Amino acid sequence: MAEIASTYPVPDSCDFTVFGGTGDLALRKLLPALYQRDLEGQLPADTRVLGVSRSELDDEGWREEVRTALRTHVAAGDLDEAVVARFLGRLRHLVLDAREPEDWHRFHALLKDRPHAETTVRVFYLAVAPSLFGDLSTRLEEIGVVDERARVVLEKPIGHDLASAQAVNDAVGRVFEESQIFRIDHYLGKESVQNLLVTRFANAFLEPLWNSRWVDHVQITVAESLGVGERGPYYDNAGALRDMVQNHLLQLLCLVAMEPPTHIGRETVRDEKLKVLQALKPMTPVDIDQHTVRGRYAAGLVEGEPVPSYADDLGRTGLDGARSRTETFVAMKTEVQNWRWSGVPFYLRTGKRMDRRASEIVVVFKAPPHHMFPGSEGVSEPNRLHIQVQPDEGMRLHLTAKEPGPGGIRLRPVSLDLSYATAFAQRLPDAYERLLMDVIKGNPTLFMRRDEVEAAWTWVEPILNRWASSPDQPLRYPAGTSGPVAATTLLERDGRSWQESDQ
Ligand code: NAP
Repeated sequence: MAEIASTYPVPDSCDFTVFGGTGDLALRKLLPALYQRDLEGQLPADTRVLGVSRSELDDEGWREEVRTALRTHVAAGDLDEAVVARFLGRLRHLVLDAREPEDWHRFHALLKDRPHAETTVRVFYLAVAPSLFGDLSTRLEEIGVVDERARVVLEKPIGHDLASAQAVNDAVGRVFEESQIFRIDHYLGKESVQNLLVTRFANAFLEPLWNSRWVDHVQITVAESLGVGERGPYYDNAGALRDMVQNHLLQLLCLVAMEPPTHIGRETVRDEKLKVLQALKPMTPVDIDQHTVRGRYAAGLVEGEPVPSYADDLGRTGLDGARSRTETFVAMKTEVQNWRWSGVPFYLRTGKRMDRRASEIVVVFKAPPHHMFPGSEGVSEPNRLHIQVQPDEGMRLHLTAKEPGPGGIRLRPVSLDLSYATAFAQRLPDAYERLLMDVIKGNPTLFMRRDEVEAAWTWVEPILNRWASSPDQPLRYPAGTSGPVAATTLLERDGRSWQESDQ
């Protein structure tokens, strides 16, 4: 990691433009993250943050919106009035429509109207609908503000399927070199996810065990307790497979399964992740029918409160929920077909309105080859490494120990706990803080390369097509549960069970 810091120095000056500066993502995540890095003194002193949207706001109007957002989304203890004033002073807002070519000379003039304009790093963060990515790239090229120091950041979703992902990549790629394109997956910025790399590759003891000889199976769960809320119109066109599996879950799987790169470099990690995606066992129609489960939440109870069904949630946004066939839950079994992982199942699961909010990876090891305590009482469970991605980031290694006491041997499961909050008495930065600084510094290691995104779509697409052609509806599960019964059966058939958070 030291190599990364030295290879990618912070530039002297930066114009960080957020297209969609008045949107939810900008106000809830991006601007608070930039503020936090300003608070830490990490932003280049000569940084401007430029917001672009169609909202009729002048600089002061946007600053007021951002001030409110900081009060809402930054912990009170981190709100330093002097830094807030400095940060708000960096902000400028421009009223522009990405679809209209008129008036873009004003954006050109704004970028030129600063000292060191010729050497300033320009970041263009596209926090707008993906349908605008192509138009925006074209506008930027037309007005001549894309130079070799420019970087463009693309938010998910990148495409709806392989062809549309290729179209987005082509449109942006006509203007920006691949090395200038930062496709963000905020999971990769999480401390616990980066720590997974460090745990695997900076410690010697795990690597000999990290293969089909010692690992029984791997589980990756991203569970949300929230429903679709206001995102219904977007979500109903996407579903859990596109929204979560194609990107976040497959990226987590890659980090668990990849080979050690020679070093943590700009392409080395991404090369290894790509090899994992290419080694995923292609899903045949029979595999899809047998090894995937899709579900949709019905009304139920979440934390004791009644919540409506997905169809009713959609209805509230003006859509006809009864006609929707979109899944809000996916569970599946897959395999990485290479020497290291041959025969090891990887079980993936994600859903909305589940019984808890948790993202976790569990590596379940095989039972010891010989049972030496035949007459012992108590429970001996296989070792597990449980990586908690969120909330309460950390990891636990589950072992079997002898319960203290005279007489016979009584076995008891115990765990070695690394809680980030306890082990490191400091605020854990939000994933966006790390990733936005990487963009400013030009470090692409934790961003998805074009070939990764397209390899993920290539693997997912047969599942999408099979489900689309099936007359079956997604299976119903009551909100506030762990998903359809079939997801439990998926593992029980193999003599396994889902490891719920603190078992
Ligand atoms: P949002 O709240 O609807 O905001 C969209 C932003 O784009 C607004 O600032 C809007 O401002 C601006 N905009 C829309 N049309 C425009 C145009 N023609 N020209 C210029 N600006 C335009 O959406 P969001 O939730 O922030 O999401 C933005 C993108 O990030 C989406 O692609 C979304 O899928 C992705 N994303 C969001 C989240 C999240 O947590 N919100 C998470 C992951 C990915 P005006 O209407 O004033 O123009």
